[in-house]
Amino acid sequence: MFRKLAFAYGTLFSPRSLLPVRMSSTDVNKKGILADKVAVIIGSTQGIGFAIAQRLARDGAYVVVSSRKQENVDQAVALLKEEGLSSKGMVCHAGKAEDRDKLVKMVANQYGGVDFLICVAGVNPLVGSTLGASEQVWDKILDVNVKSPALLLAKLLPYMEKRGSSSVVLVSSVTGYVPVPKLGPYNISKTALLGLTKTLAMELAPKGIRVNCLVPGLIKTDFSHIVQDEDIINALETLYAMQRTGQPEDCAGIVSFLCSPDASYITGENIVVAGFSPKM
Ligand code: NAP
Repeated sequence: MFRKLAFAYGTLFSPRSLLPVRMSSTDVNKKGILADKVAVIIGSTQGIGFAIAQRLARDGAYVVVSSRKQENVDQAVALLKEEGLSSKGMVCHAGKAEDRDKLVKMVANQYGGVDFLICVAGVNPLVGSTLGASEQVWDKILDVNVKSPALLLAKLLPYMEKRGSSSVVLVSSVTGYVPVPKLGPYNISKTALLGLTKTLAMELAPKGIRVNCLVPGLIKTDFSHIVQDEDIINALETLYAMQRTGQPEDCAGIVSFLCSPDASYITGENIVVAGFSPKM
């Protein structure tokens, strides 16, 4: 039986397609488990994205932070540098092709390659009925939340595949599993990310690139602060039974782990960070 399985594996996956066996965390010196790796984090000047950038940098990576506004980028880079962490920043609106191209060019020139891509940027311009959403609302949500990670990754791929052990982390939401009222197109975009993760993981495994997805619950940030609607708050409380509101830092350790050698056999997973969510 075991021999049959081994044979099936041999025919399904060429040796090149197997994920590389790498060092474990215990082999890594004191510079940090992500030492000398390059991480690009989209939507990372505050909230969950900033906490992830800070954690990856603390774990030794060179981080590239980005968001739509120059002053936010400057502030985030300054905060990281104050802590002695290695970082660069650049404006990049995730939904704009020319911004994505500029970012790829900068990263290629500065570092020659990229080990980790973390796509955190997400928007929700609508609180209301799904069928009341205008075409512009649909386009904005799908462009930024769903299409931009795939389009950016396509451009970064040549710089990631030659590194040999690259990792991509997308950011969905618990609302992608169980929708909450009045956030229809947003919920749908976050469901699409769960599928995008699995599809990309399958397609990129032969290149040694792992793709996983962080699925946060309610996290205390400016983004969640604007959700004041009673129906949404009730749904979050009753659907998810969360123990407490999370902090951005609650989402950061898992991303560092997913990028690390300890996660070298983990790909295509959607990982919920929501403080107990029995309905999912
Ligand atoms: P946040 O605190 O508002 O931070 C959003 C960050 O993304 C900022 O740095 C912002 O900076 C940047 N950004 C916004 N739109 C962008 C765009 N089009 N292109 C590039 N950067 C952009 O939000 P957050 O709560 O950390 O949310 C981050 C992600 O987590 C989103 O995908 C969200 O859907 C997801 N999420 C959040 C929660 C929650 O409860 N907070 C729960 C589940 C999932 P600029 O303004 O300078 O662009």
